[in-house]
Amino acid sequence: MLTDPFGRPITYLRISLTPRCNLRCVYCMPAAGLPAPEKGELLTNEEIAELVRAAARQGVRRVRLTGGEPLLRRGLVDLVRRIAATPGIEEVSLTTNAMLLAKKAVALAAAGLSRVNISLDTLDPEKFRRITRGGRIQRVFDGISAAEEHGLTPIKLNTVVVRGLNDDELPALARLTLEHPWHVRFIELMPVGNAQDWGPGFPAADQRYFSVQEMHQKLAAYNLQPAEAPRGNGPARTFRIPGAAGTVGFISPLGEHFCAACNRLRLTADGNLRPCLLMDEEINVRDALRNGEDVTPWLWQAVARKPEGHELLLQHYPQTRRMVQIGG
Ligand code: SAM
Ligand code: SF4
Repeated sequence: MLTDPFGRPITYLRISLTPRCNLRCVYCMPAAGLPAPEKGELLTNEEIAELVRAAARQGVRRVRLTGGEPLLRRGLVDLVRRIAATPGIEEVSLTTNAMLLAKKAVALAAAGLSRVNISLDTLDPEKFRRITRGGRIQRVFDGISAAEEHGLTPIKLNTVVVRGLNDDELPALARLTLEHPWHVRFIELMPVGNAQDWGPGFPAADQRYFSVQEMHQKLAAYNLQPAEAPRGNGPARTFRIPGAAGTVGFISPLGEHFCAACNRLRLTADGNLRPCLLMDEEINVRDALRNGEDVTPWLWQAVARKPEGHELLLQHYPQTRRMVQIGG
């Protein structure tokens, strides 16, 4: 079973299926977009399926598909089917902006997808359009409805909190959980290639960070009570407004310790294993996959390279990729 040098079992693999996206969220993607991947640059479905088989043999039990926007990936339904059928894999989930979810939920559910995490930073249609540089919020709501209809639940909603942009919406977003069995998770903004100017009307780089402690203060009136985390809530600390149907979680890479329970490895769309989201080091497995080699030693090497914790507080920020190229 994959275990890192600090004794953490690695049972969770996050796979980025594409660096492309149909939105350009200000904190994730440059306004001008990124160059399209070259032919042959991205892993094929067969290569991804092979890596998942090897990982499952080493104890990986859960797989999350992300991006860029994973719903843009051609052959996604078939890939979900193959991963879900891999011996040892107990759950396949997906993180999405939901723009295409209403159309694809039924086929994904039939292929064996368990559930979805959906990104939603605001409830205001105009602000949504600004943050995502063009997205229509109604599509998110349609995607949520479709996911519920087809059993892609429990639904988690991910909100990246940025001071002066959406920190005023924490109460309204948390109140969604009163009636809906959704798990709203507030995420601290991570400094991953997004230090530049986001354009007119957006806060300056040194003003944006909003800590998890400040989030708790914003929600003080709701008397949040510690709650049992829904399955797969990862590093989120989970709470409930008394009597609410859903939960409110906080993911705080900077404000609180977050690394001790790390159980994951990441695979980029171009075939690099990334031991830590917040560090640049990567291990290429694409060549091994294309040469028909067993990738098990590469999995162990990547796990052996996992740091005990990130070094953001020492201002060691990842430089080589944008979040859209890693998958969160
Ligand atoms: N396109 C999909 C989506 O938006 O859900 C999946 C990929 S996206 C990179 C995965 C998650 O990372 C999203 O919830 C997004 O909000 C989050 N994210 C992106 N950039 C971030 C940043 N700088 N800090 C914290 N979270 C970030
Ligand atoms: Fe695209 Fe998701 Fe990044 Fe937004 S957060 S630009 S939807 S990859």
